[in-house]
Amino acid sequence: MAGDPRGSEEQWCLAVPRREAEAARRRLIEEGILDRRRKPRPEGDVVFLPVTEGIAGAVRCELETFPERIRPPRHELVGGIAIMQDDDPKGAEMLLASRPSLHTVLLPESSVEGEYRTRRFRVLAGTPTTRTRVIEYGLRFDVDLALAYFSARLATERQRILDVMEEGERVLDMFAGVGPFAITLAGKAGVVFAADLNPAAVHLLVHNGALNRRENIIPMLADAGALARIGLAPFDRVIMNLPLAAPQFLETAAGLCRDGGTIHLYALQEEEGECLPRIRAVTAGSVTERMVRTYSPGKWHAVYDIVVERDGT
Ligand code: SAM
Repeated sequence: MAGDPRGSEEQWCLAVPRREAEAARRRLIEEGILDRRRKPRPEGDVVFLPVTEGIAGAVRCELETFPERIRPPRHELVGGIAIMQDDDPKGAEMLLASRPSLHTVLLPESSVEGEYRTRRFRVLAGTPTTRTRVIEYGLRFDVDLALAYFSARLATERQRILDVMEEGERVLDMFAGVGPFAITLAGKAGVVFAADLNPAAVHLLVHNGALNRRENIIPMLADAGALARIGLAPFDRVIMNLPLAAPQFLETAAGLCRDGGTIHLYALQEEEGECLPRIRAVTAGSVTERMVRTYSPGKWHAVYDIVVERDGT
């Protein structure tokens, strides 16, 4: 009865005595001929084991099919939003129905682009919005994926830096976005200066600072390249998370960091040590390089922890 709506189908089976069924099942797995899509069927003293071909002793019989495991389409989660990779509205509806925490499924219509590092999106399912709330290590971030950059992928990186920080440090986040580094580090810092040139990002940064009751963040609508001219006192730690272009701002960062202070430089690179010549132009201090995550074949995000030592440079 092929294609039975109840989910059973006629196929090849081996009838084996019940007490030998388990051993026979294992042997068939080893031989690669157990049909794992069908359920074995006990009947009296025998068990019918499904096999993939008409081997010696096999008979035709009807067996139930295991329900197919439905895999959700590929996606990345940002708070209540799922970002899918394929234009699949049915998959989007299925995804939305499968997770009560989701309110929207989006499809990117551009890559991360422009100075503000944002993407354009189309709504595939759910509430038509690009705004959502992300909870990261107990902190709340309101983000708008179309207006300002946000990625949850550096969440553990933010915690790593929080762990190595001393209480009361002066921190500068040169490319702060909606504030995930600034707000995380403000939990331990004396003060965090957080700059971004995207007004929408700074707006959300101010909002997120208040949302998390951080009162030691100074948000700045500013170009990182201009920070040296503002007359800021030296910092203990500088965060540089603008992977495509941050190395260009290293000189400014080193100038703003105290001797013995640390810069965390995030860079997109194709070769180990790619940023070292630029780093060596601004410091003689120790440099540690680590891979944070792969980006595309042959490209990865690296973080350089750089100690600023002016002597000898
Ligand atoms: N640090 C944030 C995070 O982890 O979510 C944002 C990182 S995002 C990759 C880089 C941010 O730098 C964007 O919000 C963009 O608007 C900002 N940006 C780009 N060029 C800048 C510049 N010259 N000065 C200040 N901010 C800049």
